[in-house]
Amino acid sequence: MTDHQALAALLFPDVTTTPRDWLERYPPRPLPEGAQVTRFAPSPTGFVHIGSIMASLVSRRVAHQTGGVFILRIEDTDKKREQDGSVEMIVRSLLNFDLAPDEGIISIDPEVEAGSYAPYTQSERGEMYWAFAKYLVEKGLAYPAFDTEAELDQTRKLQEAQRVKPGYYGRWARWRDASLDDVQARLAAGEQPVIRVRAPFPAEGRAKFVDAIKGPLDLPENDQDAVLLKSSNRLPTYHFAHVVDDTLMRVNLVIRGDEWLPSAPLHVQLFDFIDQPLPTYAHVAPIAKMDGSSKRKISKRKDPEANVAYYYEQGYPVQAVTEYLLNLANSDFYDWRKANPTAPNSEFEVKLDRMGVASPLFDPVKLNDISKDIIATYTAEQVFDYAINWAGQYNPRLVAILNLDRAYSLKVFNVERTGEAPRKDIVNWSDIERACGLFFDDLFNEAIAANGYPFPNVEAAAIEKILGRGMSFDPAQPKEEWLAAMRAYAEELGFARDVKTFKKDPTAFKGHFGDMMMVLRVGLSGKTNTPDLYEMQQTLGVDRVQQRLKRAAEYVRERAL
Ligand code: GLU
Repeated sequence: MTDHQALAALLFPDVTTTPRDWLERYPPRPLPEGAQVTRFAPSPTGFVHIGSIMASLVSRRVAHQTGGVFILRIEDTDKKREQDGSVEMIVRSLLNFDLAPDEGIISIDPEVEAGSYAPYTQSERGEMYWAFAKYLVEKGLAYPAFDTEAELDQTRKLQEAQRVKPGYYGRWARWRDASLDDVQARLAAGEQPVIRVRAPFPAEGRAKFVDAIKGPLDLPENDQDAVLLKSSNRLPTYHFAHVVDDTLMRVNLVIRGDEWLPSAPLHVQLFDFIDQPLPTYAHVAPIAKMDGSSKRKISKRKDPEANVAYYYEQGYPVQAVTEYLLNLANSDFYDWRKANPTAPNSEFEVKLDRMGVASPLFDPVKLNDISKDIIATYTAEQVFDYAINWAGQYNPRLVAILNLDRAYSLKVFNVERTGEAPRKDIVNWSDIERACGLFFDDLFNEAIAANGYPFPNVEAAAIEKILGRGMSFDPAQPKEEWLAAMRAYAEELGFARDVKTFKKDPTAFKGHFGDMMMVLRVGLSGKTNTPDLYEMQQTLGVDRVQQRLKRAAEYVRERAL
């Protein structure tokens, strides 16, 4: 037995399996050539970042485009950061965005897993990490270290004072070449070591690989004796778990945040040390936003839009967020959308090499525009169903309002929806009250109580007459006839028939035809910007039109006194 083997036996007396055993247990997947196996590997920290949804969207699409598999794996080796309910929150987020994983944790019940590469929760995979760690120790490629926090601190200070690179490496790595006896003595005293990789020192090689987004990379070889297994719970660090899990789950494409790029040389080294092929990496730049004149990544602490919960609360349709994220991921998405206005976005081919090396900018205006466009393509029934569904969770009063008279609500959502150029006024479901509130009496009354009627500058007597005339509205009268009659009435009341005539001699008129129609619009809705007046009257119906105009007339009368 070599010293290395003796050391491994000392450290892992109960570990009887080898990497080979695990590799046999989890054989290469029977997938077509070129199939990409990808994964989303979040830590259960109680927060789902919109950037993770973008990365999951890309990972899932690329997997499915190639006949591969998209896995959800839970990285719960940092028990301190873990929050209750996080796994459920992660799964729900994926399901909400139509990103159901094919394999791994596929249900909000974390006990339910799918796939034959289980378990998919890292804290349940201890034996596999230990087998690989034992193997590395046997090969002299890893070793135990018993440094205390105080000792590591001391090293850091010395390195600072000497202005050398910080870290645990080369001659600073106190346990790198410790004797078997020293290790044995510490173990006998009940101390728990960390297991560190023995990185080459001096490291003169290069870590070279082709990143699917960033292109060919050529980085200095890792020379840090990074921790692979922690002392507290013997669970792996991210680095070791990544290498072991992605190997055993046969993941061949690792799409992850580019904050991991600096540790990629360590990962390249570890794949090499365990004699396994390097997966393809795709390092994704984080979504950023403009903060004044500088660009910064959107942050969980500062920006509500970093949190997926924001999109649910605001009621953005999944399709809108999905298309917005596709456009952040592949900026040619919109050209495709223009060329294929009605195709499902799943037909768009996501390409990693079209993802930007620089951070894409989050633009709330663009998100809103996309969302408006998409909602404009929905039928009134779809709008009704989505809105009720959203409101059930976020605005119970709206549920009651919309359900009061379903047929009426559908009529409201159908206003200017079916023609050539449908109205694009609803941004998201929380915007329904603003965009359509005028049609619903409770919301209308509230708006009037708060803001009154923004009538144009027309004398009160004329306003009363116009409102009175509006009351005789006959829904059977075709639009053109009604317009002609209103124009004639405008002249009769002393309004110019159009703006041009009015402008020639403003003093000769009470206003122009547009002013007259505005009086009617405001009287009916309390707003100056509304859907088409004729359609609005048709939708409100005779009774409501009369009630509203009567009430507006009272308002004017009261003010005029
Ligand atoms: N748990 C890691 C994270 O949340 C996963 C990174 C990866 O995808 O490899 O950042």
